[in-house]
Amino acid sequence: MTMTGYFTHRDCWKHEMGPGHPECPERLDAIEDRLLISGLDVALDRREAPVAALADIELAHSRLHVAALRGLSDGLKEDIEAGGPSYAQVDPDTSINVSTWDAALRAAGAALAATDAVLAGEMENAFCAIRPPGHHACREKAMGFCFFNNVAIAAKYALERHGLKRVAIVDFDVHHGNGSEDIMAGDPRVLMVSFFQHPFYPMDWVHTGASNLVNVPVPAYTKGMEIRELIENAWIPRLEEFAPEMIFISAGFDAHREDDMGQLGLVEQDYAWITDRIKDVARRHAKGRIVSCLEGGYSFSALGRSVEAHIRVLADV
Ligand SMILES: [Zn+2]
Repeated sequence: MTMTGYFTHRDCWKHEMGPGHPECPERLDAIEDRLLISGLDVALDRREAPVAALADIELAHSRLHVAALRGLSDGLKEDIEAGGPSYAQVDPDTSINVSTWDAALRAAGAALAATDAVLAGEMENAFCAIRPPGHHACREKAMGFCFFNNVAIAAKYALERHGLKRVAIVDFDVHHGNGSEDIMAGDPRVLMVSFFQHPFYPMDWVHTGASNLVNVPVPAYTKGMEIRELIENAWIPRLEEFAPEMIFISAGFDAHREDDMGQLGLVEQDYAWITDRIKDVARRHAKGRIVSCLEGGYSFSALGRSVEAHIRVLADV
């Protein structure tokens, strides 16, 4: 058995939000190039992501939100045929093109298929190289480059469709996973742990007091060693106590010190360390079951190196 699955789809390259936008298809090229150069690609069980069923997406989003994105996409296609612009705006940073709907279905589909494969014992864990990312997408709202919350959808799917009783969400993106928090706050079947730069986008974080959230704000210029200490003290005891049956990772790599999107000081060795700590919890409580989904990460070189470091630990190579 190959230990680690790798889920992606060409449609995830076709979504783009205009010239110069940091959340661009070349991010996936940076990851693929790095996996090839490092030889890591041959150690992975590479699979094509299917299209997610709308009923599964609606485990985490309202029917209205899903219909609104579909309507926006259909409207854009009509506008383009009539000679209109190639993009439709969702918020100041976020827009769709003709391929966004398909890419979003494949991104969520990757997370769902990875969940199925891991729970079927076909692989121990999986990484989904997907875009659009998901952790800012709220139950009712697309924002911050995100349309559907891939990790929240897969976590709900593991609970509702596979009958798991406890799942954990680990979010190490530099930004607060406000969408995941919106969808998961107060659900005792889910423990969410994260750190994020604060104050920072999306600016709306306040301590809600929901007992299933361990979301730790850190100031700009926090370095890897301090993050490791925070994880050891704030995340690990809660994860151990919760004993998740499966762990989902919102794997954003924009806390890397070379990533200009944020001002934190992580390096690839920190991502390897974090992954190792998560894997240790997963091995003890969850039969090793981890599904990791790409979120942010905008410096191509740092992103490629960090994903390599993350997958090396997942795959034990
Ligand atoms: Zn981010």
